[in-house]
Amino acid sequence: MSDMNNPTHIQTLIAGQWRDASGDVYSTEYPFDGRVVATLHAATVSDVDEAVRMAEAARLQSAWADLLPHQRAAFLHAIAAGIRARSEELAQLQMFDNGKPITECRGLVASAAGTFQYFAAVVETFEDAVTPPRGEFMSISMHEPLGVVGAITPWNSPIASEAQKLAPALAAGCAVVIKPAEITPRMAIELARIIDAAGVGMGAGGADIPKALVSVLPGKGGVVGDALVRHPLIRRIAFTGGTTVGKGIATLAAEKLMPVSLELGGKSPTIVCADADLEHAVAGVLYGIFSSSGESCIAGSRCFVHASVYDAFKARLVSGAKALRVGNPASTNTQMGPLISAAHRNAVERYVALGLSEGGKLLCGGARPARLAEQDVSNANTDVACEQGYYYLPTIFEGLSNTATLCREEIFGPVLALIPYADDADLIAQCNDNDYGLASGIWTKDYQHALKLGKALQTGTVWINTYKVFSIATAFGGVKNSGMGREKGYASIMAYMTQKSFYWGLSKQPNPWSRS
Ligand code: NAD
Repeated sequence: MSDMNNPTHIQTLIAGQWRDASGDVYSTEYPFDGRVVATLHAATVSDVDEAVRMAEAARLQSAWADLLPHQRAAFLHAIAAGIRARSEELAQLQMFDNGKPITECRGLVASAAGTFQYFAAVVETFEDAVTPPRGEFMSISMHEPLGVVGAITPWNSPIASEAQKLAPALAAGCAVVIKPAEITPRMAIELARIIDAAGVGMGAGGADIPKALVSVLPGKGGVVGDALVRHPLIRRIAFTGGTTVGKGIATLAAEKLMPVSLELGGKSPTIVCADADLEHAVAGVLYGIFSSSGESCIAGSRCFVHASVYDAFKARLVSGAKALRVGNPASTNTQMGPLISAAHRNAVERYVALGLSEGGKLLCGGARPARLAEQDVSNANTDVACEQGYYYLPTIFEGLSNTATLCREEIFGPVLALIPYADDADLIAQCNDNDYGLASGIWTKDYQHALKLGKALQTGTVWINTYKVFSIATAFGGVKNSGMGREKGYASIMAYMTQKSFYWGLSKQPNPWSRS
């Protein structure tokens, strides 16, 4: 368990060695009170080159390349077991990295273990195809690993984002170089430690899985991430992060004709229909926007409410938001922790000021809390944390049109816009009038109506009478500026594979073309 009073110096796994990266030292802080919790060195462009070259060599070693699918599955199961064995410690580290409430961090760790377990099942059951022949031959479509892939992740849910890239990539037989967000490097490093330990004796013939198969390169996106994307031996980039960075990566990838998956930002609408169960809708909308303090790509940040229930819904929603427990992430009572950093809170505050200048009316929040909720964590001074941590209250606006900046741009914070709508045509037009298309939610008792609305919404995920629930077996991703490609689901393993076709001649006669 990490000692919160003394920063830990962390080394990382680069090209098969646990060591400091070659760049400058920097520190990470706990957003609860701004305390430095870890120091580490940033990677350099030459670290990227070394890690990628060694990963390419590692993936071709027979200890990895000759593993049969069920043996790769056993390795993935060992990783899942390694995560579970350290689950509480990992949840704590995740909390110190980004300030998410501990209950949420525990959920993320459990989901990461489940992700490795799921892709173990996928690789063990994945089938190549003997395709229908059109002549005297047998035709076979086989899948091969793409090679070394790069995984670039953001700071909001590191262990889940990283597992969703590592697990299918390893299942497919690839090697992986991870570039975690600069400020939240610890989960990727701990995952590498678990993978390293799980690999002992798990390679073909009982050899160890090559240590250089997975590297973790912390540091700046514009340096380390950029070098990773450009490296000639990188065959694919799996990216989760902001839309601007994602588009830049896609542009570079186009130069290399390299596939990418882009899990980007969102401005997700949630819809409260006239017949919605208001108790469920209020609970779901609050959870959709304010869990993770709104630092969630799928945050339901635009809430469209049918005019006939607008006032009743608004009253219940605002009273629910005011009652949310904003507090110490280490407490299991806490619903909202701090934002990730002072800079990010400043950005959220700028959006709130803009919302007011655009004619919005604040229904609640719009400020830093004066004090934090009483918590059951004895050794934490919540008054100090309230001063020094990056807290912001759950904030609800009304009176903004769907075209206001606050309703168009991703804030990535606890800010909701409440918008009444008149009828379905008006609703769908407003929901879809946005550059993003990640997720949406619908609250109604009419299942036929729900399906009709869901089909009309331009989003990658539609939640009906629920929000922010997930299954690793269900594909996830966005449309429009929310990205391209999908993570999760059985088919996602194929994103890390390339197809090779074999034709196997069976004719006893020579090719008739050569006959004289
Ligand atoms: P970001 O785009 O700033 O950074 C994401 C990652 O990209 C980081 O590791 C960063 O260092 C790296 N990076 C930055 N510039 C780079 C470059 N030029 N080349 C290569 N890599 C570079 O995003 P963030 O602020 O860390 O995360 C918040 C964003 O992530 C939000 O927009 C959010 O919606 C999005 N997100 C999307 C999903 C999803 O699944 N759709 C999930 C979580 C977060």
